[in-house]
Amino acid sequence: MSITGSVLVVNAGSSSLKYQVLDPVTEEVIADGLVERIGEPESAVKHWYRGSQTRREASLPDHEAAIALVMELFEADGVDIADSGLAAVGHRVVHGGRSFFEPTLITETVRSEIERISPLAPLHNPANLIGINAVGALLPDVPAVAVFDTAFFSDLPAEAATYALDAEVAREYAVRRYGFHGTSHEYVSRRAAEFLGRDVGDVNQIVLHLGNGASASAVRGGSPIDTTMGMTPLEGLVMGTRTGDIDAGVVFQLSRVAGMSIEEIDVLFNKKSGLKGLCGENDFRAILDRVAAGDEAADRAYRVYLHRLRRYIGAYMIELGRVDAIVFTAGVGENAVPVRADALAGLEGYGIRIDPDRNAVRSPDPRLISTDDSAVAVLVVPTNEELAIARAAVAVVSV
Ligand code: ADP
Repeated sequence: MSITGSVLVVNAGSSSLKYQVLDPVTEEVIADGLVERIGEPESAVKHWYRGSQTRREASLPDHEAAIALVMELFEADGVDIADSGLAAVGHRVVHGGRSFFEPTLITETVRSEIERISPLAPLHNPANLIGINAVGALLPDVPAVAVFDTAFFSDLPAEAATYALDAEVAREYAVRRYGFHGTSHEYVSRRAAEFLGRDVGDVNQIVLHLGNGASASAVRGGSPIDTTMGMTPLEGLVMGTRTGDIDAGVVFQLSRVAGMSIEEIDVLFNKKSGLKGLCGENDFRAILDRVAAGDEAADRAYRVYLHRLRRYIGAYMIELGRVDAIVFTAGVGENAVPVRADALAGLEGYGIRIDPDRNAVRSPDPRLISTDDSAVAVLVVPTNEELAIARAAVAVVSV
């Protein structure tokens, strides 16, 4: 079968690899999969091709091994991408630093530049680069495009992008707020405007990307004016395993008093905190069940999560001045009915009214969950980063 016009999207994380072959025009997903626990003795691969699933356990020491196995699965179970005319490969690259502001065709120079800025995202960019190199070696004739998580936020106003830090130190070490999840915020804000039947340039919106990682953005007429993630994806909202905002003094305290190393604090803040740190769990479904059952730790975690979320919603209402839409997306935002209700509870005075029946509807489609007399439209818009990356990749290679 020919898959000409399709795109292979690769999202290489620190210990995982997600991939998808899709048609960016019809939006059809032809094959996709997930490799987990790369670098551990028992890595696991789940591969789907046209609805049927293959699972493999293997020892995959690194991303090269993971990609080689994925290519084997493509060959054995479909779709045979090595022999088919892929239009492009789209790579998610987390950090574009001050170098990349839009999807970019990957050349040797681009590769070196992504490597040069890797210290800004030591957990992410090196894995993204390994993905780029490994796929490039196996599919040397297919143009590859890097799509940066930071790109949508590259024009953040200076007052939102600047930390109140010694200006020279900030300049020397490129310390500023970059923002992440940009592919999702851009896609969702455009889809939301489309759903409302309005030009994105006329809509002011607050986009809440609530997944395991979570971020909010204030988007004025299609351009973000603020976002919650900063120099790294650690800042902002309470996340599955990340602290979100935390007093930097806690770092000094843990170093001086607890004798923890910077590496230990990094792991603590990124992997052992957030909802997991508060109640031992980062799966929101389980947390909601525990809250319903009266579990105290889960209840506290839920309240801390909501408190932070509401603080940012309030801040962005002020920054935007006029808010036309508040948009929920990603795993929690799309599915957790109580989170949406509680995040916007009691805001009728600000023209925000959720309709409980509309909010309770489960659907994969964009939908309105506010009442007809709500001044602010509240929407659920499923994100689709793979589709956005595939479309961006095709746009770059078609020029
Ligand atoms: P990421 O892409 O950051 O890994 P996702 O956007 O897939 O994350 O979101 C994962 C989160 O969504 C998990 O916390 C999961 O529990 C939550 N989630 C998924 N489905 C539901 C649901 N039906 N109700 C509540 N939470 C859900």
